[in-house]
Amino acid sequence: MKKFIVIAVLLTVCAMAFAGGGKDAGAGGGQPQIGVAIYKFDDTFMSYTRNAIENNAKGKAVVTTVDSQNAQPTQNDQVDQFITKKMNAIAINPVDRTAAGAIIDKAKAGKVPVVFFNREPFPDDMRKWDQVYYVGAKAEESGTMQGEIAVEYWKANPGADKNKDGVLQYIMLKGEPGHQDAELRTEFSIKAVTAAGIKVQLLAEDTAMWDRPRAVEKMDAFWARFGDQIEVVFCNNDDMALGAIESLRKAGFFTGGKYLPVVGVDATAPALQALSEGTLLGTVLNDAQSQGKATFDLSYALATGANPANAGWKVTDGKYVWVPYQKVTRDNYKDFQ
Ligand code: BGC
Ligand code: CA
Repeated sequence: MKKFIVIAVLLTVCAMAFAGGGKDAGAGGGQPQIGVAIYKFDDTFMSYTRNAIENNAKGKAVVTTVDSQNAQPTQNDQVDQFITKKMNAIAINPVDRTAAGAIIDKAKAGKVPVVFFNREPFPDDMRKWDQVYYVGAKAEESGTMQGEIAVEYWKANPGADKNKDGVLQYIMLKGEPGHQDAELRTEFSIKAVTAAGIKVQLLAEDTAMWDRPRAVEKMDAFWARFGDQIEVVFCNNDDMALGAIESLRKAGFFTGGKYLPVVGVDATAPALQALSEGTLLGTVLNDAQSQGKATFDLSYALATGANPANAGWKVTDGKYVWVPYQKVTRDNYKDFQ
């Protein structure tokens, strides 16, 4: 038994030495090692970002990507392992952005630079160390664009005000509460509508956690409760917009001229398909390709001791790379397919 334990320990030590090649002995023939943690693989937009990171790493770095399965404790363990294995840099898509501070503390102690992406840590946490970066997009901007898409529709279609009261009655399907994109898209989409001089009335707002099946359920319930009072459906992302459309289809919409405007964010492939079919009114490109590339480029620069400011991206406040959003409607969706 004792012998067995000794062998097991020896094997573990060897495996750790092999995997943790460290700065000078990366497993990929001298390539730097980058650990990537995604809050959960089962998220349409994150799968695009993850692919972009991995594609950009080809031939340059050894990327180990892990699924945090929507559990912050799991992700904390994964970060610990990355640090123990002496990864040259880590790129983290936090499950809970309030956990970023603790991740930074550990990374700093282990001297492993960090690039956060998609879920923005609080500024106080970002200031904890100069080897911490963030890649994302300005959530306000996407909200404003959603609002503008709705305004354009409202102004061009007098019939959109179904009850002719001069007020836009709407439903808001939110992403995960606390996520900057959920909070700010919710706020700024409506600000853009009221800024255009249109009065609004919120019929109901609820979270569907970025998730299509949950959005179908929520929309079923909203339709049952409000029916034709609903004039516009705002969704914090496309998966939920597609869920809302699926639900409204059951209520008889999108055939025989029966229409209800639904707006999303992301410009995923199924959303572009919905635009081409004339169901989705509009969306906003959340540029996963650029966000993934910037995340990799910054991580790579940090992993190789280069200056991230020279990685080909504009770095704001010494820490932030902001990728712009773009409005996508029936007029231009083909440019994004
Ligand atoms: C995207 C959502 C995604 C979320 C994940 C957002 O920026 O718009 O589709 O679920 O990020 O954190
Ligand atoms: Ca109305």
